[in-house]
Amino acid sequence: MSRNHTLFERARHSIPGGVNSPVRAFGSVGGTPIFFQRGQGASLWDADNTQYIDYVGSWGPAIVGHAHPEVIAAVQAAAVNGLSFGAPTEAEILIAEEIIKLVPSIESVRLVSSGTEATMSAIRLARGFTGRDKIVKFEGCYHGHSDSLLVKAGSGLLTFGTPSSGGVPADFTRHTLVLEYNNVEQLTQTFAELGDQLACVILEPFAGNMNLIRPSAEFVAALRELCTRHGAVLIYDEVMTGFRVALGGAQELHGIRPDLTTLGKVVGGGMPIGAFGGRADIMACIAPLGSVYQAGTLSGNPVAVAAGLTTLKLIQAEGFHARLGERTRQLVDGLAAAAREAGVTCSTDSVGGMFGLYFTAEVPRSYAEVMQSDRELFNRFFHAMLAEGVYLAPSAFEAGFVSAAHTEADIDATVAAARRAFAKLA
Ligand code: PLP
Repeated sequence: MSRNHTLFERARHSIPGGVNSPVRAFGSVGGTPIFFQRGQGASLWDADNTQYIDYVGSWGPAIVGHAHPEVIAAVQAAAVNGLSFGAPTEAEILIAEEIIKLVPSIESVRLVSSGTEATMSAIRLARGFTGRDKIVKFEGCYHGHSDSLLVKAGSGLLTFGTPSSGGVPADFTRHTLVLEYNNVEQLTQTFAELGDQLACVILEPFAGNMNLIRPSAEFVAALRELCTRHGAVLIYDEVMTGFRVALGGAQELHGIRPDLTTLGKVVGGGMPIGAFGGRADIMACIAPLGSVYQAGTLSGNPVAVAAGLTTLKLIQAEGFHARLGERTRQLVDGLAAAAREAGVTCSTDSVGGMFGLYFTAEVPRSYAEVMQSDRELFNRFFHAMLAEGVYLAPSAFEAGFVSAAHTEADIDATVAAARRAFAKLA
């Protein structure tokens, strides 16, 4: 029996489902989750010492590759000075200034310890600022696991959400309105009816939690215009896209200035950091300046900040995002060509260092379209790639991530593996 199997069997006795976050359990693809022992650059090694080319990148943070020597050195240097003080440090100012420099819509920023905390706090802040309760989210977008955002996708126009998780009282989600991504007409109608009651709209500006879905230019323009007109706060949840799709995030590519932005993943360089920030007048409502409460024992943790600051420095290297985008395009073009050769129905897309691989004829533009994916075929492809030493996200509904450590040789090896894997599916 492989060590992965042994560890999984053992883990199930002490950890629910054997994992500390559900998607890790391989629930949708089947089989035994991989236990990793080491990462370096674009590669991971599992408990059996099998090497994989990694396209998960810890679900986004690993943009400069695993165990980058400068990031590790910064973490080590910070750690010897103490792990946590629960009091201000100079490095927190440096990272705040860096975030503000890179994301111009952010005038003031607060650090937290996860993306979930960032979005939860941004929603509370939007409600406190506007004095309104209702919020809008979009079908298929994930914003972490706080109660009011765990609303099942699929509700129709003006139907308030029902919780999609046990343990969430319906009362907690009755103010959450779920609309369709990219549906300008529905959005416009909703604002016409409820605009002056909406505290905020929260959006994944390139959705990465229903595979990769792009918003249309009309959709983001309508969002900005309607929020401004009705005094609702526009929140760009850039936990996944921030510093990844472009240095200034999705908002730079959209040419949109949101009122608030949430960050996570890359901003912590693999350590636990989230952040929320935006208009100074809105941020001034946060305690201790204002009445909206938010706090954290480990917020601004010095070791995590050291990893984040170093990662933000590395991604500002000349041409970093152009190279990352080009490498990612090479990957998806190669995968698409390999599928075509094998006669497998498959489409691909990419934005910066983020990509989508869909078992659909056309690139999907909504949750409903992405749900048409051939999941069975994806699952077979996933396992064939795993056997080839390529680690993809273990779900047909997750985006993939490329890092600056992926070489052309890694991409070529991945495409060659995909050719063999697709041939098995045909
Ligand atoms: N927002 C988005 C867009 C995400 O992709 C995620 C996590 O994947 C979150 C929020 C929650 O972040 P975390 O898992 O750090 O709590």
